[in-house]
Amino acid sequence: MAVTLSIVIPIYNEQGNLQMLFARLERILAELGLAYEIICVNDGSRDNSLEELVLHHLKNPTIKVVNLSRNFGKEIAMSAGIDHATGQAIIPIDADLQDPPELIGELVTQWQAGHDVVYATRRSRQGETWLKRFTAQAFYNTITRLSPVDIPANTGDFRLMDRRVVEAIKQMPERTRFMKGMFTWVGYRQTAVFFDRDPRLSGESTWNYWKLWNFALDGITSFSTVPLKVWLYLGCSVSLVALLYALFLFGRTLIFGVDVPGYTSLMVAVLFFGGVQLITLGVIGEYLGRVYEEVKGRPLYFVRDTFGFE
Ligand code: UDP
Ligand code: MG
Repeated sequence: MAVTLSIVIPIYNEQGNLQMLFARLERILAELGLAYEIICVNDGSRDNSLEELVLHHLKNPTIKVVNLSRNFGKEIAMSAGIDHATGQAIIPIDADLQDPPELIGELVTQWQAGHDVVYATRRSRQGETWLKRFTAQAFYNTITRLSPVDIPANTGDFRLMDRRVVEAIKQMPERTRFMKGMFTWVGYRQTAVFFDRDPRLSGESTWNYWKLWNFALDGITSFSTVPLKVWLYLGCSVSLVALLYALFLFGRTLIFGVDVPGYTSLMVAVLFFGGVQLITLGVIGEYLGRVYEEVKGRPLYFVRDTFGFE
């Protein structure tokens, strides 16, 4: 039977959540009465997630397992799942039940009403510190200002995508897969539904602030070149100021004669521009490093084995 709905779940050390996850998913999907498959991508888990997944697959063959050769990170695990999905609509969802499966019904309703992408936006962020909320907000503000793509704020990867959107995403070969940006960049008819995000059921989030910072850099560099261009304008303004100052000094020397200029202002100028130049090089480096990653053209991931696919 042709699959209508594919649920894609990236899984990294989630053994404590799987039982509950499948129980809730199976109930909700049975209520919907659509032909479905649940594609679980084991992203190199160090616990017994894989063994448990295989047990679940044996009990319910609509649960299919893709076992990656190592940990590739959530974004790539999700791409692997999307590549293996055959449904007419695809829903990526986190394994830790922070995205309530109960919302799937609403996503499907909006899809059946003719939308190509239905994303789930959080109304609240429970179980998150103010620092996490603040940095998340700062990130969304920055990226909407810098990038021509309006990435919806407070929206994770939990969304429904029509097959035509998925085919578009599969044509994007980039290695730095900033999924939130890519999902938005492709366009199509998009709409939002709102939900309250729950705290993680069990286990630890693998995102520390250093990882989040790098994730934010990936997002900004993949979807904006403003950081490369801003230096042109800064350089122009500084040169203009320098020119005016030179004219002033020239005039002053002509009128008042030569005096001994300050050491402080000289040092300040030298150090300041030294700093600006290093920042500029750093920004270029961020882009260059990513260009290098892209031109190597390595495969995105390797699959060690699969369970439940023909
Ligand atoms: N995940 C993954 N690979 C990783 C890290 C996370 O597949 O290297 C999965 C994880 O199992 C979960 C989802 O990505 O299903 C979200 O992870 P997490 O809850 O740590 O992120 P957060 O909710 O804090 O954004
Ligand atoms: Mg989580």
